[in-house]
Amino acid sequence: MYYTDSDKRTIDNCRFCFMCRHVCPVGMVTGSEANNARARAELISLVNRGFPYTADMAEVVYECALCGACTTQCCTGFDPLPFTKHARMAALSEGIAPAYINELLDRIEENGSAYPAVDNPELAEELASLPEKADVLLFLGNAAAVCPESAVAAVRLLKKAGVTFAVMKEEPDCGMDLADLMGPAEEARQVLLAAAEKINAVGTKTIVALSPDSAKVFLREYREWGAPLNAEVKTFPAFIVELWKSGALNFKNTGETVTYQDPFRLARELHETEAPRELIRACGNLKEMYRHGEEAISCGEGTIGLYRPDLTAKMAARRMKDAISTGAMTIITACPTSCAALRSAEGLTVKPLEVFLLEHTC
Ligand code: SF4
Ligand code: SF4
Repeated sequence: MYYTDSDKRTIDNCRFCFMCRHVCPVGMVTGSEANNARARAELISLVNRGFPYTADMAEVVYECALCGACTTQCCTGFDPLPFTKHARMAALSEGIAPAYINELLDRIEENGSAYPAVDNPELAEELASLPEKADVLLFLGNAAAVCPESAVAAVRLLKKAGVTFAVMKEEPDCGMDLADLMGPAEEARQVLLAAAEKINAVGTKTIVALSPDSAKVFLREYREWGAPLNAEVKTFPAFIVELWKSGALNFKNTGETVTYQDPFRLARELHETEAPRELIRACGNLKEMYRHGEEAISCGEGTIGLYRPDLTAKMAARRMKDAISTGAMTIITACPTSCAALRSAEGLTVKPLEVFLLEHTC
């Protein structure tokens, strides 16, 4: 009852296939045969043939980072993410989801977000001078809690470019974490609907999403789940490229050698790989990592870090080795949770794109 015909077709193809096993960032660090698309498909195919769905199976379902590397790698066009999300919905509905998932969901329900309240004086000072409403709304998303320096730098960049913009005083949670944790469950849809109502009430024309997580859920789930936003949604790098090309912002190239970690939501789900690169190349010398762009290996960003920080730490440490081997001294990220994940690993200096750009403005 939880799986669509498309899910069942994907499951029955993936369970006989192993062709994306080598790109799974979770499998790379656990070495477990359970951590890839085929293993999950095998488990769910058993359930679809009458075997009980057990807590052990649900645990494996939640060990997927939903990074989409398997989908990008799949030559035959299968996408294991929808059946994985439906398997999460089933696990919650049948009461077999891991305890840490239920605890996280309780926290989100209680606090309205998975993240602690933001208490950053520097950010508060930057936001204090902004208008209540404007044609451009900067949506901070999880950046404010996870990587406040990127939020501060983003606000300063827009001010420097002369953009009149607003930031909501009580920004709702965008719902990306809930969508990952629950799949397309009605409870998650209701949260998106409520957030869309609040955001639409601002009456803005353009929403600039600082976090790729917010950009992705606004552009995908909000539309697909019937919670449309009445404004055009742009990612932060794409918006900054427009400002730069219009002459509102200028950067100086210092020749600093850096590398760049593509966040999977930006690169694979929104197919945005060039905007950050154009900006980085305007400021320094970009050295690419092993598997980058749409083929990037996740550093453990996204929702998985909220409930399996052990896996995120391992993925970040593995990815940091790829970054070190470029010879760069700095790794740039365009995603708050990527920044936080990579900072848990020893190696290069990790810098949010917004901070790097602000340092290079002239
Ligand atoms: S996603 Fe494609 S490559 Fe991966 S297991 Fe399924 S069919 Fe094979
Ligand atoms: S979505 Fe990512 S983490 Fe999940 S199975 Fe595919 S490659 Fe592995």
